[in-house]
Amino acid sequence: MPVEVPNIGSRVRVTTRDKEYYVYATKEWRDTTMEGIVEKSVFKDPFYFALRTGNDFYPVSEFNAKSERIVKIEYITGSSTQISTETKAWKIQSKGKVYLVTRIAGKFNCSCKGFEFRRDCKHVGAVGKRK
Ligand SMILES: [Zn+2]
Repeated sequence: MPVEVPNIGSRVRVTTRDKEYYVYATKEWRDTTMEGIVEKSVFKDPFYFALRTGNDFYPVSEFNAKSERIVKIEYITGSSTQISTETKAWKIQSKGKVYLVTRIAGKFNCSCKGFEFRRDCKHVGAVGKRK
């Protein structure tokens, strides 16, 4: 099933549900809503996105769109991209060589040297937007 990940530059409101622990009492579920502008995540994972909220203590929060913590994402402006969680593989021909690009749970890999060093390459870029 594909996962919806907000596009960079969108203004969204993210509601998460976490268990709150009290010192003496039992655990309770609590919803938190954060609003901000979507930025590129520091994690090399297509399901992650960062939210610039303008909060003094935590100006940027990271989210995993696949996480069960996320109750809902509301779009004030902007849109999202559907990212597939299925495993897929492609053979990409480039300059007389064939490279194997795989996508496992949204994570790309390529058999070329460039990917080994930079964790990114043009072969991955060539399949990046395919479903
Ligand atoms: Zn490559």
